[in-house]
This record gives sequence, structure tokens and C-alpha cells, in this order.
Amino acid sequence: MAALSPAAPWIVAVLLGLVFGSFVNVVVARLPRMLERGWQEAYADVRGEPIAAAPPYNLARPGSHCPHCEHPLSWRELVPVLSWCRQRGRCRHCGVPISWQYPVIEAISAVLAAACYWRFGAHPYALAAFGACLALLALAVIDLHTLLLPDDITQPLLWSGLLVAVAGWGPLAPHSAIIGASAGYAALWLLATVYRLITGREGMGQGDFKLLAALGAWLGPLALPVVVLSASVLGLAAGIYLMLRRRAHSRTPLPFGPCLAVAGAVQFFLLPPIRLWPLG
Ligand SMILES: [Zn+2]
Repeated sequence: MAALSPAAPWIVAVLLGLVFGSFVNVVVARLPRMLERGWQEAYADVRGEPIAAAPPYNLARPGSHCPHCEHPLSWRELVPVLSWCRQRGRCRHCGVPISWQYPVIEAISAVLAAACYWRFGAHPYALAAFGACLALLALAVIDLHTLLLPDDITQPLLWSGLLVAVAGWGPLAPHSAIIGASAGYAALWLLATVYRLITGREGMGQGDFKLLAALGAWLGPLALPVVVLSASVLGLAAGIYLMLRRRAHSRTPLPFGPCLAVAGAVQFFLLPPIRLWPLG
């Protein structure tokens, strides 16, 4: 059998990254609307109002379509990054510009997949870390757009971090993951409570607590001070930049989730090396 080219795993990683990046695009576009619809239905239910029948709306249905002219997209229009470039960032049917966010998310996902392979090799933890990084990417984008960090992503991220530690795939012992998760939640809850007592204003949402709990489960308690500090520096820099550009003032609510997500993702690649490599 011919030997596999050394480039093959990298190509597989990048292709996987592009495909899953496409899926992240679907999640960030649809999940907030799915949640909103769920809340409206729950509210109507509590008030005893009839719930209007509506066509299904989830991650799979309706199929991919242009958000402006609603024309269904063929596979040629769904090739990650390439379709957007080939169509020069416009819908083929109505000519309306398509956000540059789509190819950028797909490209970031491909870089994350390659980075996980580079850092962790052909090991189950590479796939697990890639999944966690994708969840962080989706959370960052959703928080930027909606100021929400949905439980539908933060909770699975937390539980999967604990399970990976229990399975012995990652660098953390199970007790480190559990202490990390608890410490992550408690640290931000404490900070937010002190901030509210001093200023009388909400500084952070519960989604931020849950996100840091999830990062604690994946990275352990020792990584948390670095994550919080670097996220705060990022948030401060972004706030100052927006105020200088007159796009924000001192009371504009700014999402902290993207800062936590970026700071956490960086830490994934700075963790101590994994010593037991079952697959070489
Ligand atoms: Zn269109």
C-alpha cells in the first residue's frame, strides 16, 4: 500500500474545519431565532393564548436559502469560502451582498482544525478540543450579535469538558475539571455580585458565569486567572476603541463572551503537553 502523503492529515483537518465552519454559520444564524420563537411560545402558553401554527424552523429546516430573496441554495452556492469568493460576496439570484461573516467563520474554523491537529496530533483530544473551539466560536459570534450566550451551547460545552477529563483523553484529571468548572462559575458570580453592590448596575450576565465554568472544565482552575485577566484586557481594549470611534459610551452594554471565548481558545493551545498518546 502506498504511504500516505504527510500533507494528507492537514488537508483532512482543513476540509473538516471548512465543513464544520459552515455548520457554525447555520447555528449562529438560526439558534437565536429558534430561542426567540421558543420564548414566544412559552409566553403564549403561560398566558393561555393560542400558539399560532408556524412552519418548522430549526437547524435543518428550512433548507439553506438566501435571507433576502429566499431562493434555495444549490450545493455550488454552499461550498465553504469558495462559493462566496466565486460570487464576489453576492447572491447569484438577487445580487444582494452576502455578509463577509460567512467565509470568515469558515476560514477561522479551518485554522482552528489545523491548529488542533498541530497541537494535539491524531488523538481523540484533537477532535474534542476542535469541538470545544467551535462552540466558543459560535458563542462569541452569537454574543456579539445578540448579547446572549445560549445554554444550548454553554451547557454541553461544560458537560463535555467534564466527560473528556473522566475519559482520560485530555491533560486534566477529573477532579481538576470539576474544581475548574465550579471555580469558573463562582469567580464571575462573585465579581458580578460585588460590581452590582458597588455600582447598582448589572456588569455581567449569567451566560458569562456558565461560559467560564465550561472553560474551567476544559482548562482547569489554574488557567482561569489568565483567562479572566486576558479577557478583561481584550474587553477594555475593545471598549476604548469603540469609545474613540464614538460607537459606544461608558454605559453601552458590551458583550464579554467573545473576550472570554478568545482568551479561552488561546489557552487550549498553551496547555501542558499530553503525555499518553495512544495513536502516536
Ligand atoms: Zn438572494
